[in-house]
Amino acid sequence: MQFRSTKSNLPPVSYKEAVFHCLPEDGGLYVPDQMTDIRQFIKYMNEKTDFNDMVASITPALLEGELNQESASRIACSAFNFKPELIRLDENFSILNLYNGPTGIFKDFGIAFLSAMLEEFMKEGQQAMILCAARADTAVSMAHAFSGRKGIILVLLYPSGQIRGLDTSSFAPNGGNIIPIQIKGTFDDCQRLIIETINDREFSRRHNVTSANTINAGRLLPQIFYYLYAFIQIKNNLSGDLLYSVPCGNFGNLIAGLYAWKFGMPVNGFIAAMNINNSFGDYILGKPFVPKPLVSTNSQALDVSVPLNYERLASFYEEAPAVMRNMVFPASINDGLTMQTQDAVYSKYKIHIDSNTAVAFAAAQKIITERKWNCHAHTIVLATGHPARDENLTGKTAEKSINIPKSILALKKKCEPVAIIEPQLEALESAIASCF
Ligand SMILES: *Cc1c(COP(=O)(O)O)cnc(C)c1O
Repeated sequence: MQFRSTKSNLPPVSYKEAVFHCLPEDGGLYVPDQMTDIRQFIKYMNEKTDFNDMVASITPALLEGELNQESASRIACSAFNFKPELIRLDENFSILNLYNGPTGIFKDFGIAFLSAMLEEFMKEGQQAMILCAARADTAVSMAHAFSGRKGIILVLLYPSGQIRGLDTSSFAPNGGNIIPIQIKGTFDDCQRLIIETINDREFSRRHNVTSANTINAGRLLPQIFYYLYAFIQIKNNLSGDLLYSVPCGNFGNLIAGLYAWKFGMPVNGFIAAMNINNSFGDYILGKPFVPKPLVSTNSQALDVSVPLNYERLASFYEEAPAVMRNMVFPASINDGLTMQTQDAVYSKYKIHIDSNTAVAFAAAQKIITERKWNCHAHTIVLATGHPARDENLTGKTAEKSINIPKSILALKKKCEPVAIIEPQLEALESAIASCF
């Protein structure tokens, strides 16, 4: 499978190139050029299939000619010492826990796989520099996954504010390979700086720069694994329609699900669950995309006004708008209903869900009721964040005490960055240079 740009007719590139260059020169995003059919794999796998074995057999099929089974197996083992966990709640709902990775968020899956794959791709003596703009939680996931990887330097840009939970012995000036840099600006400034650095072709060639944001195709692809895993776990126990409900921020997670469907996973629909930052919902319903100003909510991970994956989603709609309108169902949930849903899910099923997951749960209930899907649909709700990360939840009454894993407690420890700079390209490039 090769990758092409969403924007123009540049010739398609290999996966390796899409991962290392991250952004095509025309300003688009990389998407799969043809769809690989993986139905035969899905057919022969079932609830007994091990997650890493599934990854090791599907990856070479998707990346034929680029990764053999032996490499894929090495990558899977090096990336995943955690796996998705599907729990059936009742006839209508299952929950897919994606928060068992080192930092308690689903992004651990994409990031861990990408870091292991980059290390596998790197030849003896080669070096690459990965740039990433990250909010606190993603930053820790990145640092965790990349720490100690041979031939790789990770530069983490994050907006003003505290950074927590990083291990300073892994920082480049202390002999490690991680360079966290605080930007005096917003998250958007960090994203812009990365694109500017990549477009500084001289600097980026010299350091072999790429980015590991959610826009990197190398993070997107591994996210299809858990959709498939959930499907093969449940497929022999389903009588009606199957839906996935996905809490959406930058829409990387949802798009991975859409690829799983395109590659042959039978599914009847995806619920695009948003909080009140829902500009993208109108687009999904067929109206023009008009970004609304950002509002802070309880489900912070979903507070995005212009999703970075806009172009990728748009490419699905340009190809087959009518099909997509019967495949993706947007719903927007406010903070009140989000918290009510956390309580209701706890009362009914005795499980804690974080606020982002609660948005997906409530959105699923709303769509199922509106579309009268009730008795013949089963929804898999993606639990993207560990409930112990949710301070509203952990701060609540003692009778609801939540077990907080050590790894999540460690995320609260403050630390100092390697540099604090203005949001300017020259400042960034010289801060990086000063680490060597
Ligand atoms: C990033 C994140 C999301 C949103 O995922 P996207 O791929 O950006 O749509 C949802 N929940 C949690 C906990 C996250 O960290």
